[in-house]
Amino acid sequence: MKKKIKRLFIANRGEIALRIIKACKGLNIETVIGVSEADRDSLPAKLADQTICIGPAQVDSSYLRAELLITAAKGAKCDAVHPGYGFLAEQASFSRLCAENDLIFVGPNAKSIEVMGDKLRSIRLAKKAGVLTVPSTRAIQSKDRLMEAVKQLGYPCLLKASSGGGGRGMRVVHSEQDLVSAYESAKQEAFTAFGNNTVYLEKYIENAKHIEIQIIADQYGNYAHLYERECSVQRRYQKLIEEAPSSALDNLTRNKMIDAALRVAKKVQYVNVGTVEFIYDLDTQDFYFLEMNTRIQVEHPVTENITGIDIVKEQIKISSGEVLNEKINKICIDGHSIECRINAEDPDNNFIPTPGKITRWIPPSGKNIRLDSHCYEGYSIPPYYDSLMGKLIVHANTREQAINKMLDALNGFVVNGPKTTISLISKILSSDDFKESKITTNWLEKSNLI
Ligand code: ADP
Repeated sequence: MKKKIKRLFIANRGEIALRIIKACKGLNIETVIGVSEADRDSLPAKLADQTICIGPAQVDSSYLRAELLITAAKGAKCDAVHPGYGFLAEQASFSRLCAENDLIFVGPNAKSIEVMGDKLRSIRLAKKAGVLTVPSTRAIQSKDRLMEAVKQLGYPCLLKASSGGGGRGMRVVHSEQDLVSAYESAKQEAFTAFGNNTVYLEKYIENAKHIEIQIIADQYGNYAHLYERECSVQRRYQKLIEEAPSSALDNLTRNKMIDAALRVAKKVQYVNVGTVEFIYDLDTQDFYFLEMNTRIQVEHPVTENITGIDIVKEQIKISSGEVLNEKINKICIDGHSIECRINAEDPDNNFIPTPGKITRWIPPSGKNIRLDSHCYEGYSIPPYYDSLMGKLIVHANTREQAINKMLDALNGFVVNGPKTTISLISKILSSDDFKESKITTNWLEKSNLI
């Protein structure tokens, strides 16, 4: 059903809030942002058409209060809500609440979020769609069952939380000696993070790349893809550097992966933008479905660069009932794009967050250099939220040129005040392994860089 969006409520903060404001400006949509007391003076608060304070700094009292956000959106006469990523973006109940309140949720319906938000259910769905999944067990309810499962899968294996996200509740187990303690701690971490301690066991793929497919689907059953991103540079299962395309894929494998992603999306009758993640085993050249993220991803800009599509604008258009942009089906990959996440963290001190005032901020600029950031000189990074200061993104004809462009840009990026991950990122990009595309998901942890 088509319904023009005139005013959109942003239920998020930081760089993604700014990104949504930019997309809305281009679509002539007014923006209203709900901010916590700690974000009253933030850039998104200044740049949105209207700002509503939704509560104290702590996320439980502000950004996670679904009912309150809905009341604010309705009170400001918005017709749509964009959840960004994180916070309520993958809460099925939030999508449902928006629908019940006659607000367009800029994301998929509650059913898709529910199925894909439960790793065990999403694995079952991928299997039904004929897509290969990593050998895994069902939910493991007891230590006896755990022992049996390990006998089937062997070591190394990976304990995973069924409601997992952000790498929480995950433990690699290399031997029987660590098994029970890893099981207990994975369960505990999963319960603390998600209120659900269901864990299961998966075969751990040691020599692997993380490759994901961006998909997009409208309300009329039209599906398309925007190729892949590679996100193998990770620390504790969290991405640090992303790029598109992946140099690990030949065209045949790329097409197979795209086909698998679309089959998963169709099986759940997905509508909106989404990402189907795969783990690509370099030893066997097989790829396995990992999960589907039912939201805009942090790393979407690299795809925008190589396809020329503004994914956030398309996302909003599809949510308002527009038909999928036909252009998308005809796109060819244009050049190479890399994104680096710049975090306010101290890599020399166990990545401890470094909130506080930015006393000097001279970002790089130039052709094909993009910085998505809410930071500025004089801004104080609040201690309550994630440590992402921004994303530096470059685009060039070749991968080699993109790496050099990024290294130059990072070199000219001056940030005084909080310690950041800039120098670590530069070291990774300068390594022979990165240049030769040899990075695997556990490369950074095995390297001597951290
Ligand atoms: P989360 O939802 O917590 O982000 P994912 O299932 O998406 O968890 O996995 C995050 C990362 O963990 C992957 O990118 C990959 O590096 C690693 N990982 C996940 N499953 C496996 C596996 N079976 N073998 C090896 N690495 C894995």
